[in-house]
Amino acid sequence: MLDFENTKIAFQNKSNGDLRWNRFLFKSLARPSLVKFGKSLTNVALTIGMPVGWIVKPTLYKHFVGGETIEKCQSVIKDLARYNVKSILDYSVEGTDKEEAIESALQETLRSIRNAANDDNIPFAVFKPTAFGESIMLQKASVNSPLTLHDEQEKEKFFNRIDVLCKTAYENNISILIDAEDYAYQAYIDEVVEMMMQKYNKERAIVFNTLQMYRVDRLEFLKESISKARSEGYYYGVKFVRGAYLEKERERARKMEYKDPIQPDKESTDADYNAALKYSVENIDIVSVFNGTHNEYSSRYLTELMEEHKIPRDDKRVWFSQLYGMSDHISFNLAAEGYNVAKYLPYGPVRHVLPYLIRRAEENTSVKGQTSRELMLITQEKKRRKEEKN
Ligand SMILES: Cc1cc2nc3c(=O)[nH]c(=O)nc-3n(C[C@H](O)[C@H](O)[C@H](O)COP(=O)(O)OP(=O)(O)OC[C@H]3O[C@@H](n4cnc5c(N)ncnc54)[C@H](O)[C@@H]3O)c2cc1C
Repeated sequence: MLDFENTKIAFQNKSNGDLRWNRFLFKSLARPSLVKFGKSLTNVALTIGMPVGWIVKPTLYKHFVGGETIEKCQSVIKDLARYNVKSILDYSVEGTDKEEAIESALQETLRSIRNAANDDNIPFAVFKPTAFGESIMLQKASVNSPLTLHDEQEKEKFFNRIDVLCKTAYENNISILIDAEDYAYQAYIDEVVEMMMQKYNKERAIVFNTLQMYRVDRLEFLKESISKARSEGYYYGVKFVRGAYLEKERERARKMEYKDPIQPDKESTDADYNAALKYSVENIDIVSVFNGTHNEYSSRYLTELMEEHKIPRDDKRVWFSQLYGMSDHISFNLAAEGYNVAKYLPYGPVRHVLPYLIRRAEENTSVKGQTSRELMLITQEKKRRKEEKN
């Protein structure tokens, strides 16, 4: 029986010292003023090149990141694997327009794809598409604005880079997740991802798009995409997330005076998220589902849908995933019950992962509610261990 409250399983890889440290970290994150101050300091540090590694590395970085390189993530990967929790190595570089940085991100991502293919503990490769194209071009191509000759060249380069990543995944028989970010770039990215699925998903779902269900249009988009995949004869891979850029999207829509693409409230996001899971499972003959969430209801709901549709727990078309450093109670309890579980494990140099860490810190402030849950579970486990000892 699935029980997310089972803290013995949730924290089985944590020593008492680890629990004390996690409690301290989440208590600090629970203070919005501290997180706000940390964000401002980090932004200044990034702008003027001030070193921040000495403070970030032993704290947030240690908790949410696997290491600087693939090799340095090995001990975390092995530790998670002992509990049947797999890892997805996410080279954390955010969008850049510099050719040299793009090329270096491409080489590292290719390395991570080949590495995943050779490691049974890594079931997927992943990348952020904005790391491989100029933002202006992505934006213009998404709204069909006229492109300059330079934009046309950049568009072709972007397409070729995404193609080489997906082709390498296909040739190495490893599925690849393509993250979703800003609304402004997504329409063109969706177009390219669809072309990749047409090319590489003929035998199974190798290429996965990401749908952010906080967008009002995504449920309809899912239905159209599945219908197209069915009529054209390819498999559809989909990673579901609620979406990490809510405030930024609302702000941009307000500033640029277009209709807010985000759901009016949390309930609507939740309703579409769960409806999308249901629709995908109903089409499981051609769909593979990746459930990227820390929401207990959505995690449990997918297990119920699997049972209803007689899908075995370890069926490779259904995956559950949480971010490393968050919601171990979901990951470890699902894994203990035989479901396919993988942690998103970011890696990269400290400076590169700072924007990711800021997002995680913000997501864990008391305002958003994640932290109180983590703290409550840690306290519960500390109490349980004390009682067990006596
Ligand atoms: C494995 C994994 C991969 C991820 N990949 C991506 C990615 O590619 N792209 C990306 O954007 N994010 C990604 N994320 C981050 C993800 O979007 C956030 O972790 C997620 O939004 C937090 O929501 P939740 O599903 O865990 O559940 P909850 O904590 O229940 O939901 C919180 C979310 O609900 C939505 N929400 C909250 N309030 C409102 C409101 N008033 N109106 C409308 N919606 C609201 C927001 O999306 C908010 O983040 C990933 C997360 C995981 C676990």
